Amino acid sequence: RAKEHGNSYRLYDPSMDTKAYERMVLETDLRKALEREEFVLWYQPQINLATMQIEGVEALVRWQHPELGLVPPFKFIPLAEETGLIVPLGEWVLRTACQTNKRWQELGMPKLRMGVNLSMRQFRREDLFDTVANVLQETGLDPADLELEITESMTMDLEQSLQTLQKLKSLGVQIGIDDFGTGYSSLSYLKKFPIDRLKIDRSFVSDIETDENDSAIVTTILLMAHNLRLKVTAEGVETEAQKEYLKVHGCDDAQGYLFSRPVPQDEIQQMFMKTPQN
Ligand code: C2E
Ligand code: CA
Ligand code: CA
Ligand code: CA
Repeated sequence: RAKEHGNSYRLYDPSMDTKAYERMVLETDLRKALEREEFVLWYQPQINLATMQIEGVEALVRWQHPELGLVPPFKFIPLAEETGLIVPLGEWVLRTACQTNKRWQELGMPKLRMGVNLSMRQFRREDLFDTVANVLQETGLDPADLELEITESMTMDLEQSLQTLQKLKSLGVQIGIDDFGTGYSSLSYLKKFPIDRLKIDRSFVSDIETDENDSAIVTTILLMAHNLRLKVTAEGVETEAQKEYLKVHGCDDAQGYLFSRPVPQDEIQQMFMKTPQN
């Protein structure tokens, strides 16, 4: 169907309308989704490349929308950021991830590190320290088993972020830099910040054996990180060849579809019951 606008015609684009409609539905429903308990966490294993054992998982949020089905984070995290809903949502994610990790330990599973993503808005809040401290106390999780993931863009204000990180670190949690290499910030924060880990972004990993620039970047990150006594996780590992390359070059951990996609919590439990560790 073409709509007439004077002399010009505008073509009716059904996909545009669907997208606009979907966004509107998501925006209105997002506000109610927390109360309705429609969010769920899936977990993606992180494998230690020296031992090939699962050492940690990353908590990744999904939205079980009553009509749209399972909504991936890229469709609602930006909206949640804009509306501020990311703050209560992020707190729910943190609490649920810590509870789950504690429950796994109580079931007799080996200790896992639980990675939790923080958004810019959460990171800038005065009460972040109290929130994390309260969740750790409520759940009884060993702070060393929690790793907060921040991105380089959050470190732009060096003084402010240094203070925030030092306070968080005093709780005993671990700090990882997510999507490392994709941000705009200078590297100077690496020597000042109390961080434990760099997570190399998937964009550097996907062509690691064929693209000389990517392999140069990855091996250089590994060298630098290890000289700074930081651990390194490679993200988005999809092939055996990528895994081997990373292992040979001393990468500590890897996460990606080669090992497992993000899965519901009971599937993580099953992984340990099928292949008992030790
Ligand atoms: P991220 O933190 O970089 O998480 C990794 C993303 O890469 C996940 O997408 C994961 O499913 C995907 N991935 C893992 N391995 C592979 C692989 O081998 N190949 C490919 N192609 N992709 C892989 P997901 O779950 O869709 O999450 C997307 C982003 O949404 C996350 O990126 C993170 O920035 C954000 N996000 C997810 N959960 C939360 C949350 O609880 N809080 C906040 N603030 N952000 C979240
Ligand atoms: Ca992450
Ligand atoms: Ca990442
Ligand atoms: Ca990412």
